[in-house]
Amino acid sequence: MDRPLSLLQILGGFGFSAIIGGVGYKRQALDTSGVLGAIITGTLIFGLGGWAWGLLLIVFFVSSSALSFYRAREKENLAEKFAKGHRRDLGQALANGGAAALLALLSRFFPLDQQSAGMWFAACAGAMASVNADTWATELGVLSPRPPRLITTCKRVEIGTSGGITWMGIGASLGGALLIGLLSGASALVLRRGWTETGLLVWAATAGGAAGSLFDSLLGATVQAIYWCETCQKETERPVHRCDTETQALRGWQWLNNDRVNFLASVVGALVAAGLYWGWQ
Ligand SMILES: [Zn+2]
Repeated sequence: MDRPLSLLQILGGFGFSAIIGGVGYKRQALDTSGVLGAIITGTLIFGLGGWAWGLLLIVFFVSSSALSFYRAREKENLAEKFAKGHRRDLGQALANGGAAALLALLSRFFPLDQQSAGMWFAACAGAMASVNADTWATELGVLSPRPPRLITTCKRVEIGTSGGITWMGIGASLGGALLIGLLSGASALVLRRGWTETGLLVWAATAGGAAGSLFDSLLGATVQAIYWCETCQKETERPVHRCDTETQALRGWQWLNNDRVNFLASVVGALVAAGLYWGWQ
């Protein structure tokens, strides 16, 4: 999957991400800064990684947008994460596509020999599988008929609590990771890299996504910054609550907001996928 750098491909990546960003804005999936985020990450991923990398980004974007519209009215009342008019901003775009964009850059600065060039792609697939798993788990897990339990203590928590998990959420997360895994394997088949490479990519990306998603929940339950809204008497992930009250720090590390948790989880997904790919090769 190693090709010379092409200006045309970078321009194509820019044009394509601008269109995707525009559609996302129109469908109210992105705000203005989110469009910028989509263009930055999309241009790097498509322009430097190539179509197989870009495909994973698109499938993540389309499937997670579709899921956020799925039973949206119901979810609005279940947890504040799903409050009406919620558009993804720059921070969220970078949290979700940032790791894959960085990997696309790294793959150009440190090109590997033909034999191991697939490792950069495996890492990208692991990162995208991780954010896809996490988004699917969030969007579908909230609809679980049973209340979530905290991943660390197994105590019952309110719906929408960081680090709270349900069986439905775990299933959704594995499904989200597997979809990215299958697609990365399919692109290896299209590129005639053989069945071994295909199977390895499916396994590495899916396992990476599951690991990243697990890491996300663990951070959410332990060190992610959580605030308290005095007005609503509720825990929240936001320094300013949706009721416009400035909230007080309750626990966790102040710098570690939800976007950074997502980004770190995608880095873990990339590392696990690259490690598995490397080890099995
Ligand atoms: Zn409030």
